[in-house]
Amino acid sequence: TRILGIEGTAWAASAAVFDSATDDVVIESDAYQPDSGGIHPREAAEHMHEAIPQVVERALEHARETHDGPASEPPVDAVAFSRGPGLGPCLRTVGTAARALSQSLEVPLVGVNHMVAHLEIGRHTADFDSPVCLNASGANAHLLAYRNGRYRVLGETMDTGVGNAIDKFTRHVGWSHPGGPKVEAAAEDGEYVDLPYVVKGMDFSFSGIMSAAKQRYDDGVSASDASGGSSDSSDGVPVEDICYSLQENIFGMLTEVAERALSLTGSDELVLGGGVGQNARLREMLEEMCDQRGAEFHAPEPRFLRDNAGMIAVLGAKMYDAGDTLALEESRVDPNFRPDQVPVTWRADEPE
Ligand code: ATP
Repeated sequence: TRILGIEGTAWAASAAVFDSATDDVVIESDAYQPDSGGIHPREAAEHMHEAIPQVVERALEHARETHDGPASEPPVDAVAFSRGPGLGPCLRTVGTAARALSQSLEVPLVGVNHMVAHLEIGRHTADFDSPVCLNASGANAHLLAYRNGRYRVLGETMDTGVGNAIDKFTRHVGWSHPGGPKVEAAAEDGEYVDLPYVVKGMDFSFSGIMSAAKQRYDDGVSASDASGGSSDSSDGVPVEDICYSLQENIFGMLTEVAERALSLTGSDELVLGGGVGQNARLREMLEEMCDQRGAEFHAPEPRFLRDNAGMIAVLGAKMYDAGDTLALEESRVDPNFRPDQVPVTWRADEPE
């Protein structure tokens, strides 16, 4: 099976070709980079509009070059696209492109849930059977596990996504988007200072810790202004310490709930998904927790963690093989598409 995948939920305009015979995934991406501040939805949509045709053309060129059959045959078996969740105007651009391609290539359309794709790419690359998934992405944060034909949300953020929370802090500090890698770098020289840690049952909240971190930063700036100093410090607490402590608390919260999810489900496999999964400290904490309980941990390579069309194409292939295609008139995008709305058609049901 060969699938063209198209992703465009927020910042990454991306197209990919997955060939299940060779397991090859070729990804062409064009990222939106805000000039200042965070992601502006209108600018992100404009970027999507310009970049999608280009990345799709590059991916299709590859599909044509590697296609064995007669030139009259389409170079892929289906077009899969991210239906949601994400920013409405971005999703609509991708939906329109996918529908047009499905018609011009005369192949079926497959509608993929972006969060389930984050999970499935980990299950695919690790060859795991039934893992728990921690999705730590920009706009989301949740624990998913399969039961009775659906991926159930076992725990999730009660406010913002984990990456967006970190990005809000770095925006406040005046660092450019995305903030996650900058916090990771600054944390290397930091020491622990007290910040809130909020886990309630299986859910977590990031707004309190972010406000506290901003407050400590502001206190430091005013203290340093008052003393005529120029360093980013908070009553003697450097910004590096805030970054270090943010990581320890936020990732500690995610790790705690991931462990509870493993314990609750009895699964001994954990996969990581989402752009925040590129963070080495988060991976280290999860790995250590899994080691201690004899579970296996897998983090896909970075190109599959951040938003990418490779994961859309890979899940698209599984759905296509299961006959799970979409009629054009049912192919509306859904900015609030939750993972537990998706009937899982592509895997055999597990015993209760
Ligand atoms: P979603 O999948 O929820 O739609 P998204 O579209 O915002 O999320 P992702 O690519 O999954 O995108 O994640 C982007 C986020 O990852 C940004 O918030 C960014 O700051 C964060 N991030 C990237 N690298 C790192 C890192 N090394 N450490 C922490 N966070 C990181």
